Amino acid sequence: MSMRQLVSDILHLRTLTSLHIVPPFCPVDVSVFNFAQTESLLQRAYEKTLRWLESGGVERTKVPSALTIHSHAREH
Ligand SMILES: [Zn+2]
Repeated sequence: MSMRQLVSDILHLRTLTSLHIVPPFCPVDVSVFNFAQTESLLQRAYEKTLRWLESGGVERTKVPSALTIHSHAREH
């Protein structure tokens, strides 16, 4: 699924239900075929999600910037 389609789906579905999108890692410097990093990625995702929850992420309704066109010139 392309990011454009995902964002389109999010914008549509959030009109129908309560939708919370945990921001994904971006950029991810590991190939999707590199399963040697799975445990590390899962741990990072767990910790990032905890920080997101603790910082009120559930209250935010905006599409995460990592899912939209952006650059890595600054942190998002
Ligand atoms: Zn990014």
